[in-house]
Amino acid sequence: MGFDPSAVQSVILTCDLLMFSDLRSLSRDVHDCRRCPLGFSRTHAVPGVGPENARIMIVGEAPGQNEDLQGEPFVGAAGKLLDQLLGGIGLSRSDVFITNILKCRPPGNRDPQPAEAEACSPYLEQQLRLIKPEVVLVLGRHALARLLPGYESISRLHGKVVSKDGVTYIPVYHPAAALYNSFLMGPLEQDFKAVRAHLDRAEERRQALAVAATPAPKPEEQLTLFG
Ligand code: URA
Repeated sequence: MGFDPSAVQSVILTCDLLMFSDLRSLSRDVHDCRRCPLGFSRTHAVPGVGPENARIMIVGEAPGQNEDLQGEPFVGAAGKLLDQLLGGIGLSRSDVFITNILKCRPPGNRDPQPAEAEACSPYLEQQLRLIKPEVVLVLGRHALARLLPGYESISRLHGKVVSKDGVTYIPVYHPAAALYNSFLMGPLEQDFKAVRAHLDRAEERRQALAVAATPAPKPEEQLTLFG
């Protein structure tokens, strides 16, 4: 059998996808992606936005019509609500990295298909690796099924802190679900309060560790300090 250089090329490209040196090169790859049929039907891919050193990562389901047109996640009504919820706990978009399980819009906003989520998953894995967020907010049941498979349903797990493979997750109701079902608005606000409480606890722990790591002043320094 002869040597087929195109086979080698495809292996190299596959490996390339699994390692990006930064978010910018990852985004470029997403914009060129044709790994599933959604890459052929989208207007714009939506890799995600936010700082590479964000403490908080937010993972939604998939771009909708507005996101597909603008190339940014959560720019429609659900995005407005997300901004309000973040503001309610003292955060803004510039503090968080926002992305989705799928980087391209499913036609007619249908649910993501497992094969699409599978094809797209290396991007999310790489985003997690590069950003190393302190906490990942998992928005709604589709993101929950993908990020925490086999765990409880969103109605049981929302607002709780879950640790898996060195990553801390807090599943919360999806803002779009609360827009359709107003009875979810209160629980969603409570979920964001749980996120605030988690961040505050993490900050207290960090400060306590910093104090513990500071060497105590020597006796002669104490004398100088107090008289
Ligand atoms: N917009 C997004 O980007 N993701 C969602 O899950 C919903 C709206």
